[in-house]
Amino acid sequence: MICELCGKDVTFHKKVTIEGVQLEVCSECAKFGIESKKEPEKEEGPKPIVTQRLEVRERRGKPKDVYEAGGKEELVDDLGARIRNARSKKGMSQKELAMKINERVTVLSKVETNEMTPDDRLVTKLEKELGIKLRERVPEVLAGKEGRSGSMTLADLIKMQKGKGD
Ligand SMILES: [Zn+2]
Repeated sequence: MICELCGKDVTFHKKVTIEGVQLEVCSECAKFGIESKKEPEKEEGPKPIVTQRLEVRERRGKPKDVYEAGGKEELVDDLGARIRNARSKKGMSQKELAMKINERVTVLSKVETNEMTPDDRLVTKLEKELGIKLRERVPEVLAGKEGRSGSMTLADLIKMQKGKGD
């Protein structure tokens, strides 16, 4: 019997409900679900940690977008240098550029020296103003690509939980 959550081959298993899905899991993973024989309790209190983490991951990860685009966009390594070069090619001072994009000079200065990572909004402004690319597409290498996305995420979480406790 293979645990549907962590994929371990176990002799002992339980039917539990996790995230509203019925799964046959090993005794370890059963801790993260509600045993099916009981009526799932509708709790008013805080959500279980697994649910919270999954929601955070969903918001952050957006695997669908990633797959559709064939990779995700990341800031280039030499971001600061690219900005500085493009700016000096245009004969602009830090102050002039900062004014054009409506940012503080100190912010721009820190971005150029890689002391600060600009947020998306700032990156977009810099790209537009300087006519350069500061993001590049990197191929996504995720376990999810092997078609195990959902259960992998849960299994990952359980590993994290195990590592902390016990
Ligand atoms: Zn398991």
